Amino acid sequence: MSRFWSPVVHNLEPYVPGEQPKIADLIKLNTNENPYGPSPKVLETLKQSINDNLRLYPDPDSGKLKQTLADYYHVETKQVFAGNGSDEVLAHIFNALFQHEAPLLFPDITYSFYPVYCQLYQINYQTVSLTEQFEIDINDYQQKNGGIIFPNPNAPTSRLLALGEIERLLQNNTESVVVIDEAYIDFGGETAISLVDKYPNLLVTQTLSKSRSLANLRIGFAIGHRDLIEALVRVKDSFNSYPMSNLAVNAGIEAFNDQEYFELTNNKIMTSRQQLVQELEKFGFDVLPSSANFVFVTHPQFDAEELSAGLRQQGIIVRHFKHKRINQFLRITIGTAEQNQRLIQVLKTLV
Ligand SMILES: *Cc1c(COP(=O)(O)O)cnc(C)c1O
Repeated sequence: MSRFWSPVVHNLEPYVPGEQPKIADLIKLNTNENPYGPSPKVLETLKQSINDNLRLYPDPDSGKLKQTLADYYHVETKQVFAGNGSDEVLAHIFNALFQHEAPLLFPDITYSFYPVYCQLYQINYQTVSLTEQFEIDINDYQQKNGGIIFPNPNAPTSRLLALGEIERLLQNNTESVVVIDEAYIDFGGETAISLVDKYPNLLVTQTLSKSRSLANLRIGFAIGHRDLIEALVRVKDSFNSYPMSNLAVNAGIEAFNDQEYFELTNNKIMTSRQQLVQELEKFGFDVLPSSANFVFVTHPQFDAEELSAGLRQQGIIVRHFKHKRINQFLRITIGTAEQNQRLIQVLKTLV
């Protein structure tokens, strides 16, 4: 603390990211990274992008990437915003699109960055309890609000809300912006991008960090009505005009061009998820139905934090949250088949 700090900084409680330890041979199942590397075509493009042009500023608009995304999702480029990771895109959304007269609504159990952005941008919020089964019930969102946001599938619960329910929410909530954070949508869900032409207050965000294996390059985007996108561009151009390097833009384009690799790796992850769930259930874990690249599990007889510590001693790290409603749960990222086997092997010795 220092007397030189601004009042905003004094009151900030920053987001705590999953750790990135520098220990060799660690099985890292704590931050929902993809266990497979990026497409070989992405790596080739990156190599070719390392040239004299690095002395130049990139295209401030990331226009080629936006064009690729617009073609892929059948929207206009003016409906696309691209940024330095979806976290930054989300930050701009909180700043540009949520109103301050009524509280922003999001689930009690959700991505813990949301309350941090609220503090940073001085936005009131109110959390809405998930059901007993950790589901979002859209009937609970029928109240005056300055915006609504949640991930679909939700994190860290992994549960998916059906697209029909999202549409029902949009029909009931027309006066504020609804943001669907689709960081995990490619692992079994159906994107709400198909609804953006019908609902001018819908904004969908996605990331290339998870299903496209590019967490390190920081690429995220939002798709919605052009007026919403224009607000984001205004904030971006008041903050950092060049958020994405040529490297990120070119890699992002190639990641979308290589559909075959995308499907191959995602299918592997979804198959591994199914196998992992079966194994975990065999020795007594309760596993929430997952549509993400992680599972959210609890064991009726064993303390989650102790299990997490036991796994760590054997070189496997998973994520444990202290929030009291979920402090008996572990969030475990789906690894490769070999990593999952090792996880099961170690868990067998602990329960
Ligand atoms: C991982 C994640 C993000 C952030 O993704 P980046 O593009 O890597 O910043 C956003 N929302 C949720 C729910 C996530 O899990």
